[in-house]
Amino acid sequence: MASSCSSSRSRLSEDDPSGSPRATLPADPEERRIAELERRLARLQGEGEPATVAVLEAELGELYLEQNDLRRARRNFRLARYDAPREESVRRRVALGLGEVYLREGQPELAVEELEPLAAERGDFSARDELRFRAFLSLAYERTGKSAEAQKLRPSSFQEQEFLALRRRAGERGATTGPRATPSKPPLNSTPGLAFQVLPRSSWRAAAPRDDQSPMSAVRRITIHHSAMEPTSAPLEEAAKQIRSIQNGHFQRGYADIGYHYLIDSQGRIWEGRDKRFQGAHAGNTDANERNLGICLLGNFVSVAPTPAQERALRTLVDAERGRYRVSKDQIFGHGEVRKYFTGQSTECPGERLMSVVRDLRGGRAGNLADD
Ligand SMILES: [Zn+2]
Repeated sequence: MASSCSSSRSRLSEDDPSGSPRATLPADPEERRIAELERRLARLQGEGEPATVAVLEAELGELYLEQNDLRRARRNFRLARYDAPREESVRRRVALGLGEVYLREGQPELAVEELEPLAAERGDFSARDELRFRAFLSLAYERTGKSAEAQKLRPSSFQEQEFLALRRRAGERGATTGPRATPSKPPLNSTPGLAFQVLPRSSWRAAAPRDDQSPMSAVRRITIHHSAMEPTSAPLEEAAKQIRSIQNGHFQRGYADIGYHYLIDSQGRIWEGRDKRFQGAHAGNTDANERNLGICLLGNFVSVAPTPAQERALRTLVDAERGRYRVSKDQIFGHGEVRKYFTGQSTECPGERLMSVVRDLRGGRAGNLADD
């Protein structure tokens, strides 16, 4: 335990005889506990032992969830995960908590991502956690069309009442989700004809675009990139973090938003980047970007190939977008080709191992940039 120091802090934060008048404390015990935890965390100011801080943050997340304040709940769960990613008990509380947050926000696919990895450690669950796991994951499965999987998670009949109560609660849409980074609009995956899921901008906590972007009426070519960064590991949050850092980098270069329209992580998840109603900022210059859909695969493919899931997702996405905008095969490019043509400069992007996939997508034909 780190210590004398954190225990003396907690003593101070509790019944301090010279402290603030009791009358200012909230009457509701839950609210009082929230105020106390917030105060304690403020006092730790990033200097507490991370595992200790994370436990407080996880508890705070659960309390905010009780209060139906989904925005603060989500924030505290994420902070807890950030502070102590490997602390077993914290990890479980955070995953169950975020699973419920996402369900209540109407994002069942994210809830599945959070909850499924817990299956491996269910043996150690308390009865209550086991029931929450079953209730949330079964609801998330139902809402993503996996009813057979959902059925397998029903508990024995004597737990049925509580199971149903938990599901009802998680099925409520939050009343106070707080301000969002982007105005809500239907996610791209609701586009008819797209038979795959696209994680909306809110799932990587995109910052709002800065200034006005140029509208893009239709797509006439597709350009493929790599992020030239470390490949992302399995957790959703890893990829989300990398996408946020790409957006930050693009802001620093003066772009209005992340430059790519789509990003694909090593797990093959497809993420929404810049709104497709606007021209991207990825290919080299304004002419190169005109009606040019930008897709970036997370990772560095100079000497390593994309993962099979990542390549599959790319093929699915390119096929769908080609069909949608009637883009011919010879209008699929690697970044290097487009940049060279429009600016005379070269780039290693998207790396030779991804470039060979691009050539294959083109059906062995040569790209035709002169065609307007
Ligand atoms: Zn590139």
